[in-house]
Amino acid sequence: MKLDHSSITEINNYLDLLYNQLPALENSQDELHRFWCRSYDRDIANMSLSMGLFLLHPAFHKRMDGTNIELKHQGDFSGKQKEGLMVNKCQIGILVEDAVCAGTKTVSDHNWPRSLGGPTRGANHLELCGACNGAKSNSILLFNWKQDITDVEWIGELLRDICGARGGCN
Ligand SMILES: [Zn+2]
Repeated sequence: MKLDHSSITEINNYLDLLYNQLPALENSQDELHRFWCRSYDRDIANMSLSMGLFLLHPAFHKRMDGTNIELKHQGDFSGKQKEGLMVNKCQIGILVEDAVCAGTKTVSDHNWPRSLGGPTRGANHLELCGACNGAKSNSILLFNWKQDITDVEWIGELLRDICGARGGCN
C-alpha cells in the first residue's frame, strides 16, 4: 500500500497534533479550551480532516471544570446496533482498496478508532474478521484520509455536541 501525498500530509498533521500539541495542552483545562475554540470552525468545511478528527479526541470530552461530557454514540456496539449492519464477510476491502478477505466470522470494529473519539454508530462501523481486526487495531493509517471532512457526517455532529457541552466558544 502506498498512500498518496495528501493523505500522508493529513496523517502527519494528525500525529503532530496527537503527540506534540496534546501533551502541551493536557495539563491545563484553560489552555485546552483556548486551543479547541481557536481551532474549531462552526463551518466545518473550513477545517482540515485531521483537525476535525483531533478536536473530537476524548481529551476534549470535558467541561471547563474537568467533569466528563457524556456524548451520544460512545462505547461498544450493542447487539441491537449490530442487527442490520451484521455481515458475514470481512469488510477489509472498505479500508484497503481491492483487498479481498475470505474471513466470514466477523467482529464489530470502529473505522475511526473509539480510543480517539470514533463514535459507535453505523457510519463508523465495520465488520472485520479476527485477523484483519487485529491487524488494524487502533491504527489510523487505514482511515480514508482522501475524503472531505464534510463527507464524514458524524464529525460535524460530534463537534457541535462537544462545543455545546463545553459551554460554547466566544
Ligand atoms: Zn479479514
